[in-house]
Amino acid sequence: KAKLSAHTQKSTCCYCGVGCGVVINKQKNGSITLEGDKTHPVNKGMLCSKGLNLHYTVNDKTDRLLYPQMRYSKSMPIQRVSWDDALARTAAVFKTFIQKYGPESVAFYASGQCLTEEYYVVNKLMKGFIGSNNIDTNSRLCMSSAVAAYKIALGEDSVPVCYDDIELADCFYVTGANPAWCHPILWRRVEAHKAANPGVKIIVVDPRTTDTCGIADLHLQLNPGTDITLNHAIGRVLIENGDIDVNFITNHADGFEQYSRLVFERSVAEAAQICGISERDIRLAAQYIGQAKGFISMWTMGLNQSSIGVNKNLSLINLNLITGHIGKPGSGPLSLTGQPNAMGGREVGGLANLLPAHRNLANPLHRAEVQKFWGGTEIAAKPGLTATEMFEALNDGRLKAIWIMCTNPLTSLPNVRLAEEALKKAKFVVVQEVSNKPESLAYADVILPAAAWAEKEGTMTNSERRISYLEKILDAPGEALPDSEIICRFAQKMGYKGFDFKNATEIYAEHAKLTAKTTIDISGLSYEILKQQGTVQWPYKAKKGTGTPRLFTDKRFFTENKNAVISAVPDTLTSELPDNSYPFILTTGRIRDQWHTMSKTGKVNKLNQHIKQAFIEIHPRDAAQLGIKEGEVTVITSRRGEVRVKAKLSAEIKQGVVFMPMHWGKILGNDLNRVNNLTNDAVDPISKEPDFKYCAVSVQKY
Ligand code: SF4
Repeated sequence: KAKLSAHTQKSTCCYCGVGCGVVINKQKNGSITLEGDKTHPVNKGMLCSKGLNLHYTVNDKTDRLLYPQMRYSKSMPIQRVSWDDALARTAAVFKTFIQKYGPESVAFYASGQCLTEEYYVVNKLMKGFIGSNNIDTNSRLCMSSAVAAYKIALGEDSVPVCYDDIELADCFYVTGANPAWCHPILWRRVEAHKAANPGVKIIVVDPRTTDTCGIADLHLQLNPGTDITLNHAIGRVLIENGDIDVNFITNHADGFEQYSRLVFERSVAEAAQICGISERDIRLAAQYIGQAKGFISMWTMGLNQSSIGVNKNLSLINLNLITGHIGKPGSGPLSLTGQPNAMGGREVGGLANLLPAHRNLANPLHRAEVQKFWGGTEIAAKPGLTATEMFEALNDGRLKAIWIMCTNPLTSLPNVRLAEEALKKAKFVVVQEVSNKPESLAYADVILPAAAWAEKEGTMTNSERRISYLEKILDAPGEALPDSEIICRFAQKMGYKGFDFKNATEIYAEHAKLTAKTTIDISGLSYEILKQQGTVQWPYKAKKGTGTPRLFTDKRFFTENKNAVISAVPDTLTSELPDNSYPFILTTGRIRDQWHTMSKTGKVNKLNQHIKQAFIEIHPRDAAQLGIKEGEVTVITSRRGEVRVKAKLSAEIKQGVVFMPMHWGKILGNDLNRVNNLTNDAVDPISKEPDFKYCAVSVQKY
C-alpha cells in the first residue's frame, strides 16, 4: 500500500462495477480533490470522465437533504422533525401494518449503490425480524438475469474470472454491452491489450454501432432480441468444426447432448436471416472463438434486461462451457456489473429470493441456519416481492408501506407511470436519500437524510469479486446519517435485538462470520486485513492470507454433482413485437458521461456538456420516411405513454430500431424526456428483470 500524507486517503469510485481506486486529497476548507490510484490493481491510476469528476458531486452540497422530515397525514405539509420522532413514528406505523395485515404488507426497496454493511442490516431486518422477504433492490433491474443464469449454469452466482484475465485472453465476445462508454476503464485495458497484440480478436454484438465497435474485428449488428439464435448458431458451428472441448464436456458438464440436438435444429443460414446478419459473419465469429487459447465473454444489460434475459445469459455461458473456456487463465464468462456494489448485495442475499452467502431461500436447512445465526423470527420460505412487483402490490393494495433507500424508482422503473400511481396510493412512504432531487420525495410521508459516498465507512465488491474497504473521509452535512445507522436505529425502535452495532466494523464482522464454510467464505477477512491489502477477491484463504483471483480452476462447480450445466434454452422471443400502430423497436441505454438518474453526474457542468438533453436515435432512412430532420422534436408513443425529444439521425442504428438514453426523468415538472414512460414492465419469468431493451413504439414529427 502506498504511503499517504495526513490529508490523503484512499477509496473506490462509487459509479460503475469496474471498481476503480481513487486517492482523495482533503483540502483545508473541507472540500476534496481526487485522482486515480496508481497502485490499484483495477485501474492502475486511470479514471474515466465520471470518476475524474467525482469530487464535484461531493463538494457541491446544494442539493443535500440535511434533516429528517415528516408529515402526520397525507393532507398535512411535510416538516422538519427530530431523528427520534421520525423513526419512532415510522416504527409505530410499520408495527400497525404488520399486526393488521401481516409482515408482507411492508417492503424495503434498496440499491446496488448501498455499501455491503447497509445491505446486510436491511436484509437482516426484513428477512430475519419483520418476517417476510420483501426486500429487493434496483439490482433487480440490472443483474438479476445474470444471477439466475450463473446459479443454473455454475451452481451459484459466481463470476469465475478476474480482470487480469483480460491480458491473458486472445478472443473477446462482447454482447449487449457498450463498455467503451459504460465500463470505460475495463475497456481501456482491453484496448491496450489489443494494441499490444493485434492478433487478439474482438467480436462485438450490438444492434447499434457503438464506440466499443471501434476496435472490433467483427461487429455483428443483429436484430434486437435475437441473441439466443445467434449464440446457438455459433455453438452449432463450433461443434461442426470440432472446436469444442470434449474432455471438459464429458467430465465436467451436463446437458451437451440435448444442447447439441437443439442447435442443429436450425441451419446457420436460417439463424443468420433471423438475426439480420450474414452467415459468413456467424461462421467467422465461431472461427475466432474456436481458435482462441483464452476466450472471455463479456456482457451486461443488453442480455440481462429482457423478458428472456436468463435464457440469453445461459446461451452465452454455453459458449464458454462447450469450448472448456472456464476456470483457466484468460477464459470465462465476465458479467459487467452496472452498479458499484450490486455484487456486495448479492453476497449478503439482498434480493427478495436470496439468502446470505449464496444460501438458498428454498432450502429449509439454509433458512434455519441463518435464523439461528440472527436469532430472530422464522425466515419465510416464500420469495418476497421483487422491484416491479412491489409497485404492483402498492397499486392493488396488498402492500401498504414502502421504504425506498438510495434509489430513484420514478425515473428508473419501467412503465414508470404505474409506479407513480403506486406511490400515490401507498398508505405510507419512507424515502431515505442523499439528494433532494428524486421524484419519489414528493410522495414521502417520512424523509430520512443519508450520508453520501466518502461520508461513511464500509465495503463494496466489484465485478471481479474484489472487495474494497472505503474509509470515512468527510463528515456528512446537517443531520445526515450513514444508511446502516438509520436502519439499525429503526430496528431498535421496532424492539428487535441484534442491531446494536457500534460501527460498520461490527456489521462487517457479523456478515463475514455468516460466510464461514460457504463458497464465498470471507470469515477470516477483517477490515484490518482489507486496509493492509487494499482489496481482496473472495473467497479469502485465511491460511494463505490471499484472495482468489479465479474460480473453478479444479473444474468442480457449485452444483450438486460438481458439473457445470449446458442449457438447451429456446430462442422464442416474448417481448412486445412491433405492429402497424407501433412499428419501431425501442431500446434504451446509457450515455458516456451520465450515471443512472443523474442525481450525481447531472450536478457536474463538464459532464453535462457531452450530451445535453435526452434524444431519440433513429436511422436517416426511417427519419426521411417520417419527414423528420436532425434536431427536430419527435413524439414517441407506446401503449404506456409518450415522450417528446429531439431526433438524432444516425446510420449507426439499424433501420426499424430507435434508441433513447435511460437517464432523464422529470425535469422542472416536465416528464416528457423520460424513456420509462414508454418501456414495458414485462419481466423475465425467472429473474423478474424487466424488458428495458425491447418494446414497440411509434415515432412522429411533433
Ligand atoms: Fe468509476 Fe467505473 Fe469510471 Fe472506474 S470505470 S472511474 S469505477 S465510473
